[in-house]
Amino acid sequence: MSDSDSYGINASAPNHPDAKHVDAHLVIDRREWVPGKHPDPQQRHEGQTEYLERYIQCLRCGREALNERDLPVECDGDRR
Ligand SMILES: [Zn+2]
Repeated sequence: MSDSDSYGINASAPNHPDAKHVDAHLVIDRREWVPGKHPDPQQRHEGQTEYLERYIQCLRCGREALNERDLPVECDGDRR
């Protein structure tokens, strides 16, 4: 990766240096504690009252997805 590439990403999202481009989207990793038991039985455990859900969110259109393949190809944020 060249210096100019990282500069471009930082310029797009100055508060999110970890943001990365996925197609037209500019996504960041997010984590959120969700009350309840994990939907995946393999990650459930006895007495679990909340779990840490990991997902990604596009800074431009605000769309959330569990992984990059779940994002639509087009980014609504570019239509502004
Ligand atoms: Zn987007």
